[in-house]
Amino acid sequence: MPPVAPLSQYVLKLTSRCDLSCDHCYVYEHPDQSWRRQPRLMTPDTVAATARRIAEHAATHRLDTVRVVLHGGEPLLAGAARLAATADTLRRAVAPVARLDLRMQSNGVLLSPEIADVLVAHDIRVGISLDGDRSANDRHRRYASGASSHDQVRRALALLRRPEYRSAYAGLLCTVDLANDPIRVYQALLAEEPPRIDFLLPHANWDRPPIRPDGVATPYADWLLTIHRRWLADGRPVPIRLLESLLATAAGGSTGTEAVGLAPADLVVVETDGTFEQVDSLKSAFHGAAATGLDVFRHPVDEAAAHPGIAVRQSGLAGLCATCRSCPLVRRCGGGLFAHRYRSGSGFDNPSAYCADLAALVRATAAPAGPVPAPSADSLPPAVLDDLGSGRGSAESVGQLAAVHLGIARALTVALSPAAADPVAAAGWHLLVDLDVSAPDAVHTVLSHPFVRRWAQRCRAGETGELPHLAAVAAAAAVRAGVDADLVLPVRSGAVHLPTLGTIVVDADVDTVPVVVSGGAVELRAGRRRVRVRPALGPNPDRWQPTRTAHTGAGAVLLEDTDPYRDCFDLPVAARLTPAVADRWTAQVRQAVHRLDTEAVGYAAGVRALLRAVVPLRPDPSGRSRSAAARSAFGAVAVTPVGDDAALAVLLVHEVQHLKLDAVLDVCELFDPADARRLRVPWRDDPRPVEGALHGVYAHLGVADVWRHRPGVEAAAHFRRYRDWTDGAVDALLDLGSLTADGERFVRRMRATLDDWR
Ligand code: SF4
Ligand code: SF4
Repeated sequence: MPPVAPLSQYVLKLTSRCDLSCDHCYVYEHPDQSWRRQPRLMTPDTVAATARRIAEHAATHRLDTVRVVLHGGEPLLAGAARLAATADTLRRAVAPVARLDLRMQSNGVLLSPEIADVLVAHDIRVGISLDGDRSANDRHRRYASGASSHDQVRRALALLRRPEYRSAYAGLLCTVDLANDPIRVYQALLAEEPPRIDFLLPHANWDRPPIRPDGVATPYADWLLTIHRRWLADGRPVPIRLLESLLATAAGGSTGTEAVGLAPADLVVVETDGTFEQVDSLKSAFHGAAATGLDVFRHPVDEAAAHPGIAVRQSGLAGLCATCRSCPLVRRCGGGLFAHRYRSGSGFDNPSAYCADLAALVRATAAPAGPVPAPSADSLPPAVLDDLGSGRGSAESVGQLAAVHLGIARALTVALSPAAADPVAAAGWHLLVDLDVSAPDAVHTVLSHPFVRRWAQRCRAGETGELPHLAAVAAAAAVRAGVDADLVLPVRSGAVHLPTLGTIVVDADVDTVPVVVSGGAVELRAGRRRVRVRPALGPNPDRWQPTRTAHTGAGAVLLEDTDPYRDCFDLPVAARLTPAVADRWTAQVRQAVHRLDTEAVGYAAGVRALLRAVVPLRPDPSGRSRSAAARSAFGAVAVTPVGDDAALAVLLVHEVQHLKLDAVLDVCELFDPADARRLRVPWRDDPRPVEGALHGVYAHLGVADVWRHRPGVEAAAHFRRYRDWTDGAVDALLDLGSLTADGERFVRRMRATLDDWR
């Protein structure tokens, strides 16, 4: 047998039946009906034989990682016990030779806490099929009785969002249907807070061509590009595999999908009875299209890999038809999915039946555009992780963290939009969408504000009474952009709050006020009174309480003493400051940030990139300086009055270290979230959870570094104290065994910084 390209991905058909009866299903509703002769469940013997074959192949080809996707039919029909046993068998066989990346694709309706416990215990990540909101999902994804599966799927997704099960949530898979509104589908998917979304074109070929209503030439591209535009405008809040793959190919990279690009498809299917089959989607072509005549009992994986139908999908350009090979778009398109090339007579030697749509998609995504993308859960590059793990962080690294924050704030806000049935919120939403196209910088500035994220999180947590604040968010962006708008804004505690700009006191007992935004000015009418303010220019009436700003060179830090969402720290916030006191605060913030440019260069970039607001706290009764940061209000640091800018600089570094780590944890799992053990740390009397200890060492490492650069005996003593605290706790974290590979990498970089100081 000639040498074969190894296969690293396996689809295991754990069951051959399904509890749903989706009319677009390629397993049951397309020409291949081979499922009828399959046993309902894969037996333990077949699982064991498959596991041995996979391990044997991985060892022969020295594969680092093997991905196995438990599939069906519906794999959850196997039940929790069979699922656990299957995972156990696979892991025991494969783990000695390669890393096992165990996944599942499910319709979700049977997902129970018992099943979710098995997923977490056996490190199985599950992708759930969902076609959009209820009407979109009900179009195809129904029981045989015709009943909707939407409630059951949403219940499963709510379970996967729970902190204890979140690690098992791999993402959503959505089949495109032109009858569904693309933006509603996108928003419904986003509202489920998936770590990843993928879109699948409905299976079609030249014999059963894609439906093209009204003769539109590229309706599938048009549908996906509508989402693409919104997704870019939203700051790419969640990775969408098909769109990211198109952008990756535009930049000369490869993709993680067979749908586009020329990367080899190194995948084989193991059917419920142990037979090897080619990729599942071929079942949409003709009966028996996926068969190989090979099985796990008699044949090694090498023989399956050498099967012509599998080998051709591994051969890149050479495996394509003459038309595709000469197509100028071929390196990005790749001829589309293999199954979509089928035509009676010429087999798979054709361009895709979606050729026109693929060409339009490729052309429209010719160059990555839009705002800085938020890194996806598995895309914080190792070099960035290393840089931040050192305790410090270049402007580029912290810029990535700022993009993470913006992406999350956008995703949270976008996820609220289907709920914005409230007319005040709905008007705000529509204005925000328009501004996002006409004045994206103004929208970014407002959405990056720490308390906009906190407000959105509160709404997502069920505080729907706070949705009308969306109109205030939009109004603030309109003022910044100089765009005219008529809105109604909510009144809270006797005032209208415009995030990033300030507060207008409303001298009337009302819940809402009509507002006209025009040329950067705001005019509100409460009863017969009118108040007109121009946030950027005076003179303004007494009832205008602007957010004061500390200008720090290229950037600015807001002094937040009015925003109603600033009360998220464990310490009491100060009331509105008098002008004289506020002047002292802004001067101190400005001097503290400038001070870091010279005495803590490695930390200045983080403070400048991430610090958006300082919240004055009430003085501590003990006279101690206190400070705080909160993940829900990313970008804000709260501090009690301090003696001078030198003291404030230390507190800012301390709290911004917490913000940096929060942003890293938003996209990278650094420790096992299920590990409930606590560590003794030198700076607290009570033992700390792993996350608390990690935060402590990271903050103290930064503080030690600041003191290290200051002259004097007292500074040296501070340095030694913080260094020693960090030193012991870093080793304790490394010894605990709770860190992930990324976590260990991150903490070892802290260790290296400490070692450099010796
Ligand atoms: S849930 Fe999946 S396997 Fe089941 S009928 Fe629907 S598409 Fe087919
Ligand atoms: S499917 Fe069409 S667009 Fe894609 S490579 Fe082939 S000819 Fe070009």
